[in-house]
Amino acid sequence: MAIDVTPQERARIDALARSDRPLIVADIDEVVLEFVAPFMAFLESHGHEYRPTSFRLTGNVYFKETGQASEKEAVSDFLERFFGEHDTWQKPVAGALDTLSEIEQAHKADIVFLTAMPPHHHARRRALLDTHGFTHPMIATKAAKGEAVAELMRHHPGKPVAFIDDLPPNHISVLETVPGALGLQMMAYAPLRPHLPAMPEGVTSVEDWPAAAQAIAEFLAAYGR
Ligand SMILES: [Mg+2]
Repeated sequence: MAIDVTPQERARIDALARSDRPLIVADIDEVVLEFVAPFMAFLESHGHEYRPTSFRLTGNVYFKETGQASEKEAVSDFLERFFGEHDTWQKPVAGALDTLSEIEQAHKADIVFLTAMPPHHHARRRALLDTHGFTHPMIATKAAKGEAVAELMRHHPGKPVAFIDDLPPNHISVLETVPGALGLQMMAYAPLRPHLPAMPEGVTSVEDWPAAAQAIAEFLAAYGR
């Protein structure tokens, strides 16, 4: 079953699927671009604040003047407005660009960004990535991440794949469809890390991009890559 993407993304997926090079699949928010810190700054600019006291958005956003928690609809509205101007707020995660370039060269790896965001924001995100030098292909889909990674493995199911993402459900999804994948959990915004739900077995948490690069090098060494 093919995931729902544009014809351009379909061509991108097919090209990556035909390659037998090691595949590095990186999430964007909290992995390649900071998300939590800039979203907090955005809320501040609208008289609200996000209190990172648990792992959720709804219920943790407050109107500063009254201390009242925002309703679910208001939080969704803030998120939509944030993504509509995210290129003025989001910055690269430290070390992401240099480390991805090193991994690409050292292991002759394919690198692809896999992000879940509404289609009308794709062009803005693509432009932001390009501005910061992240020229790697991006697949933006609301499909389960495991289904997307499986499609990228279609012609070479045995090729090594590493998957980097902050959220447990995405790791569970990928482990289901590609059990041999290296799962690395990374979250740029450190204060939220203690509040994350437990990671599935087999997924390793890494502090930063250098630690991710080391884990990937060890994983690929077992494949002679
Ligand atoms: Mg993310």
